[in-house]
Amino acid sequence: MSGEKCFEILDKIFVAKNKQKIEEIKGYTIKYGHIVDKKDVIDEVLVSYFKAPKSYTAENMCEINSHGGNVIVKKILELCLKNGAVLAEPGEFTKRAFLNGRIDLLQAESVIDVINAKSEREAKSGIKQLDGFLSRKISQIKEEIMNVMVNVDVAIDYPEYDVDEVTTNEISNMLENVEKSLKKLEKSFDNGKIIKEGIKTAIIGKPNAGKSSLLNAILKEDRAIVSKQEGTTRDTIEEFVTINGIPLKLIDTAGIRDAKDEVEKIGISKSREIAKDADLIIAIFDSSKELSKEDLEILEIAKNKKSIIILNKMDLETKIDENNEEIKKTNSKIIKISALKQEGIEKLYDEIEKLFGLNEINLDNEVLITNIRHKELISKAIEDVKKAKETVNEKMPLDIIAIFMKNILEDLAQITGEEVTEDIINEIFSKFCLGK
Ligand code: GDP
Repeated sequence: MSGEKCFEILDKIFVAKNKQKIEEIKGYTIKYGHIVDKKDVIDEVLVSYFKAPKSYTAENMCEINSHGGNVIVKKILELCLKNGAVLAEPGEFTKRAFLNGRIDLLQAESVIDVINAKSEREAKSGIKQLDGFLSRKISQIKEEIMNVMVNVDVAIDYPEYDVDEVTTNEISNMLENVEKSLKKLEKSFDNGKIIKEGIKTAIIGKPNAGKSSLLNAILKEDRAIVSKQEGTTRDTIEEFVTINGIPLKLIDTAGIRDAKDEVEKIGISKSREIAKDADLIIAIFDSSKELSKEDLEILEIAKNKKSIIILNKMDLETKIDENNEEIKKTNSKIIKISALKQEGIEKLYDEIEKLFGLNEINLDNEVLITNIRHKELISKAIEDVKKAKETVNEKMPLDIIAIFMKNILEDLAQITGEEVTEDIINEIFSKFCLGK
């Protein structure tokens, strides 16, 4: 429970062993006792006390640790409600922490990321953000703008002093720096997105090339963590897998699996469609056969994207290899495997890691944007920096330039949540689960 009345409510349902009064109990202590419904003892519990502002929400808080199991927990919850508590909405604890100023919006959002993390990398990036890593970077940029802003305001207020020239230079330099920092953050979203959402991967190849065998080989890895979700395109299922720390979002795995019937086997047009959406294409070929017309079309699809070529069925007598002219033309990495015997699959992971520079992502000292809301605001801030630069170049009056500078500050303030509408706040917290 969190809030002004939480100790009052607790008092009605909890009897501490040593009968200490609430006022005498210090924050950060745990008390042993019983939850009671009038005279009935409901459970033997431990209660942790947190006194405002030193708690998760920055309000008075208590946590009741009861025995597990649904009946007891439900009963205690009912008792709390009967005595005046109200059920928390999704994310309400974290929302209060934000509204009470203990954390900023970026940090609140990272709580969701940490909870929902599907890979260690993603969790680590969330924890960094919770720690205020990105918030500090944004503050630095804001400070840089504000330092110049002060001089601009002085120049506007005291036009008799001839500071225009100096200030304009100062503004130009500052805008250059700010743009550079923002662009670096914007760029980090490429990696951030991969860490959060996985590399959108399409396995394409003509019928019988071995797509479904490869898929099975990938999913069979014991280190693979799989979760399914509806794809963005209708009727597709995406499967999120983390293998060797590489987050992959496999597109249309259902299409590959369910296409048992020869007629239904996933065709070129379908391949083209799923490839459109992909960050990575794994194009697979039956190396025991010469390249067919369909294979050439698959190569064509692979050519225009980040792709890896797989020559499958290397356990059989091969008709094509890495020296094949048509295959070489794609400039993609070529890997020989046997999906059936599950040989050579690790080479695929190594290549993906290299292709996306996953080894180079250093979460310890790199600020990474993983959230699309932040990315969009940063892009908007960059646009506003550009507009501000134009006003400076066109030698507009300082008060006009100042307006554009303020726009940049507002964009940044929306990221950290100082200037954000209630709708946005509600939307962000609605993504939480209950009790967080
Ligand atoms: P898809 O139509 O592309 O999904 O292909 P499948 O994975 O269903 O494979 C088609 C056929 O090729 C099946 O009979 C597989 O057992 C076989 N196959 C797949 N990979 C290999 C391989 O590496 N070696 C051999 N010898 N057969 C394979």
